[in-house]
Amino acid sequence: MSGKFDAMHEEPSFGKLFINGAFVGSTGAARLPVIDPFDQSTIAHAVDATAEDVDRAVTAAGEAFEGAWRETSAQTRGQILWRIAAALRERSAELAELETRASGKPIADSESDIADAATCFEYYGGLATKLHGDVTSIEGAMVLAVKEPVGVAAQIIPWNYPMLMAAWKLAPALCAGCTVVLKPSEETPLSVMALASSFADAGLPPGVVNIVTGRGEGAGAALVDHPGVHKIAFTGSGEVGRHIMQRAAAGLKRVTLELGGKSPNIICADANFEAAIDGALFGIFLNQGEMCSAGSRILVERSIYARVLEALVERARDIRIGPPMDPETQMGPLVSARHFERVRAYQELGKAEARLVLGGGRATGAALDRGWFVEPTIFADVNNHSRIAREEVFGPVACLLPFDSDEEAIALGNDSPFGLAAAVWTRDVFRALRFTRRLRTGVVWVNHSQPAPVEGPWGGFKQSGLGRELGRGGADAYLETKQVYLNTEDQPIGWP
Ligand code: NAP
Ligand code: MG
Repeated sequence: MSGKFDAMHEEPSFGKLFINGAFVGSTGAARLPVIDPFDQSTIAHAVDATAEDVDRAVTAAGEAFEGAWRETSAQTRGQILWRIAAALRERSAELAELETRASGKPIADSESDIADAATCFEYYGGLATKLHGDVTSIEGAMVLAVKEPVGVAAQIIPWNYPMLMAAWKLAPALCAGCTVVLKPSEETPLSVMALASSFADAGLPPGVVNIVTGRGEGAGAALVDHPGVHKIAFTGSGEVGRHIMQRAAAGLKRVTLELGGKSPNIICADANFEAAIDGALFGIFLNQGEMCSAGSRILVERSIYARVLEALVERARDIRIGPPMDPETQMGPLVSARHFERVRAYQELGKAEARLVLGGGRATGAALDRGWFVEPTIFADVNNHSRIAREEVFGPVACLLPFDSDEEAIALGNDSPFGLAAAVWTRDVFRALRFTRRLRTGVVWVNHSQPAPVEGPWGGFKQSGLGRELGRGGADAYLETKQVYLNTEDQPIGWP
């Protein structure tokens, strides 16, 4: 463990909220421990924000929206986003360590997440100056469609990619000219809170971004219900997403939801075999399988089913499970005791419903015994109607299913309440095209697994969500469209 981390107990953001440009104390006394899932040590205590804290944050965001931020040009907003990206890159080692210590994800993954977060800020920094509406000339008038920021955005994010999810939320909102109150997950509040100490140097006016930590049912609910919030952007479970949508209805707040999935990874017999195996392993075991887009249902053409199964099992055995701060580690512990219990229960359920071919339990070993580690797990011959094939595990648990025809693969792929992502592996361009047209998912990868380029739209069909993040459309989610009618005649045309 790096000694540098101990010095972070002095980190000014710990135990504070970030409101109106400053780290401030809570109006309440409640604190939540942030626990390292590798050894159960308490890294820090975060504020469990009160409704009064949330009100201060929303008020600051509302004032900044009507004040300094409204006066800030798109060019300046873009430059600020670029400077936040630069801070992420400069502080990568420190932020990655905070990310890994709180979440258990391997340090190498955290470093690449911080770089991806910086790329996201850079993209939206560039886009800030390119947002525009349009103009139509009609008889006696010009009709303008003007883009304006929605207002104050409440953003609620999960623990699996703490900094990247913060970037996906903050960057497009600031690009569009919104102000923000962000609530990170109670499991992983440290990294984004630490980043806030770079906001003033980046030129971000006070109140434009506010960060409140705390429990979902406390601070999160207060934020969702606050009348000063105009838009809610949420990433997390379907259960909480549904609840938020209902609460948002009271104030007719704009809502975007990024929820879970049970994504098919379809391997055809004509695929590049090695690439398909790599992609399937990456798709379910990356980030301990704690991914909304995990390729958790691996559909394999029957003629290569046995070969694929054998290769997956052999390769998954070699995954290096270990201390998340070790740069060689490929799989760390699950995020929390609660999540560990949940994934363990699904491993047991799978044993009752399908044929276990790898793993199925807690991962043990000298360095692992105090952590929430589970074994990479593979179930074969899974029935697509079993719970293990329908419910999101959010852990390193793969289901293998054979198929005999493309029609069957498409039907199996689509037979899910979710529709976030799908991957298809084939060298036949017409097969690939058929799959891309027929799969009912928000993202389809052809001969790849899990890329989420900031340039492309991201989000789900069906119960995987509502609206899209990333790409140009990611900024639209933070914009209203206003019609401005400009009469061009001294004597207006148009009334009887
Ligand atoms: P979660 O329980 O839904 O929590 C997500 C966030 O919502 C957390 O910040 C949580 O706060 C907060 N929250 C909980 N209850 C709330 C309420 N009543 N009102 C307002 N906010 C509330 O999900 P999670 O366990 O953190 O994350 C795992 C889930 O997220 C998985 O189901 C996964 O599929 C989904 N996910 C989806 C994507 C995507 O892009 N589609 C990405 C990542 C994760 P606390 O945690 O602080 O209590
Ligand atoms: Mg933790």
